[in-house]
Amino acid sequence: MSRFWSPIVEKLVPYTPGEQPGQRNVIKLNTNENPYGPSPHALEAIRVATGDGLRLYPDPAATDLRKAIAATLGLDVDHVYAGNGSDEVLAHAFNAFFTGKDAIVFPDITYSFYRTYCELYSIQADKIPLDAAFRCNPQDYRRPCGGVVIANPNAPTGIAMPLEDIARIARQNPDVVVIVDEAYVDFGAESAVSLVPRFENLLVVQTFSKSRSLAGLRVGFAVAQPHLIDALQRVKDSFNSYPLGRLALAGAVAAWKDREWFDRTRQLVMADRDGTAKALQDQGFDVLPSAANFLFASHQKVPAEKLLRDLRARGILVRYFARDRIGNHLRISIGTTEECAALLEATGSIVRE
Ligand code: PMP
Repeated sequence: MSRFWSPIVEKLVPYTPGEQPGQRNVIKLNTNENPYGPSPHALEAIRVATGDGLRLYPDPAATDLRKAIAATLGLDVDHVYAGNGSDEVLAHAFNAFFTGKDAIVFPDITYSFYRTYCELYSIQADKIPLDAAFRCNPQDYRRPCGGVVIANPNAPTGIAMPLEDIARIARQNPDVVVIVDEAYVDFGAESAVSLVPRFENLLVVQTFSKSRSLAGLRVGFAVAQPHLIDALQRVKDSFNSYPLGRLALAGAVAAWKDREWFDRTRQLVMADRDGTAKALQDQGFDVLPSAANFLFASHQKVPAEKLLRDLRARGILVRYFARDRIGNHLRISIGTTEECAALLEATGSIVRE
């Protein structure tokens, strides 16, 4: 703290990122990365881009990437916005749409960056309690508000909301923007992109970090009607930040087009997720039904903090959030089949001790 800080920065509780350990000999199941790596075509495109024009600025409009995404989704390029990871896209969206006087609503258990952005941009937040099973009641979103944010599937629970509920929430709040954060949608939830032509207030945000395994490249995007996309572009251009670097653009376009790699690797993750969930249940864990690439689990007898410590001692990192109601849960990312087997062996021996 210093007398030069603004009141906003003084009060800010910054987001705590998951640990990125320096050493490589750990099984890293703590930040929901995809264990299979990006499409080989993406790696090749990045390699080519390194030798080709890095002295030049990138296309500020990220046209090729936005066109590729729009073409697959059956939309025009003016419906797509690209940013440096979906975190940046979300930050620009909060800044563009939510600085009005009314509080925005999001679930009390959700991606913690939403709270941080509210503090950063002086936005009031009205948190909606989840029920005992960590589910949202769509009726709760029927209230006067300055906007809505829904992670679908939610994080860290992994629970997906049906598309009809998203549509109902967008319909019930016609005068504010409803953001659907679909960081994990490709692992089993229904995307709200199909609703975009019907709802002028819907903004769907996705990322290349999870199902396309490019977390290190920082590419995210939003899909919405052009009047919302224009607002994001105005915010971005006012920060004087280029949409994406040349390597990111090249890699993301190639990854987007490699449908086969995308499908094969996400199927592997989903199959291991379901198998791991079942095996954890057999060991006495309560596991929430997950449509994401992670599981949210608590053990009936062993506290989460002990599991966290004992797994770490065995070289396995998982995520723990010390918070009311979820303080006894671990969030476990799905690794390779071998990593899932190592996890289960470790949890099995910890719970038997
Ligand atoms: N939304 C949710 C729900 C997330 O869990 C994450 C990843 N931590 C993000 C957005 C941001 O992902 P990225 O910035 O890598 O696109």
